[in-house]
Amino acid sequence: MTDPGTLGRMPELPEVETVRARLAPVLAGRRFERVEIDDPRLVRPYEPAEVAAELQGERVAAVERRGKYLIVRFESGRSLLIHLRMTGSLRHSRGVLAEDPHRRAVVRLDDGSDVIYRDVRRFGTWLVLEADELGPYLSTRVGEEPLDALFTSARLGERLATRRAPIKAALLDQRTLAGMGNIYVDEALWRARIHPLRPALSLDRNELRRLHRGVRASLEHGIARQGSTLRDYRLPDGASGTMQHEFKVYGRGGEPCDRCGTPIAKTRIAGRGTWYCPTCQAASPQAASSSSSRPARSRRQSSV
Ligand SMILES: [Zn+2]
Repeated sequence: MTDPGTLGRMPELPEVETVRARLAPVLAGRRFERVEIDDPRLVRPYEPAEVAAELQGERVAAVERRGKYLIVRFESGRSLLIHLRMTGSLRHSRGVLAEDPHRRAVVRLDDGSDVIYRDVRRFGTWLVLEADELGPYLSTRVGEEPLDALFTSARLGERLATRRAPIKAALLDQRTLAGMGNIYVDEALWRARIHPLRPALSLDRNELRRLHRGVRASLEHGIARQGSTLRDYRLPDGASGTMQHEFKVYGRGGEPCDRCGTPIAKTRIAGRGTWYCPTCQAASPQAASSSSSRPARSRRQSSV
């Protein structure tokens, strides 16, 4: 059983990709006829009315994704960069809009339909960037695109080669791999049979290969299942994903590991709840002595 109190805090790559795929056919070729932004936090430090006026009249060329960012590219060369953060969601609607205290923005398209942005916790952001600003903005914030054909285990190794941090923390850093969050990092490490506390730079070539495969497999699996429905995440048409029933370790503390039957353990790493199999993902002796003796210590404690 999953524990809703400790579950994912934000949409990750598969969820954002699912939103992108649903939104693209709705938005491509459409003009933003009227834009209402009701929450100053969404576009801070800019004025909502100013940003709305900038967006009005823009025609959509494409809807793309980079890491957890949605990129609405306009024919003018400008882009609208949307980050859903913890609870942001987008819906497409053709009817009359019901009252909703969490609605932060509405875009009326030139076909009469609306795209609605909703955000309970209000951490999401909208940012309008000029053509020459998008590349530099993203390149300082997001690293390798893990599903890109150019992403290889060697490239992963280069990204990790100088990182002494636990692999869990290094993978959560968006400058390592774009779009990985708490859920898919735990899933990828389980697939790769790597302990989440292992120093990132200590992984050998075989482990890097397994991790590369594990990252891709867990993300592709997530996309195939159309993302999770954790917290306030919703698909644009209001439908729900089924991913929350598909996790191998995430949120499954105490349940048997699919591979070996050992109860899944839960700990905290980099301030985040972390789930792993203590048998399949045993810390290597080298990692245990050089960085942290935590696994050994807890074993001693439990035997008292
Ligand atoms: Zn196991």
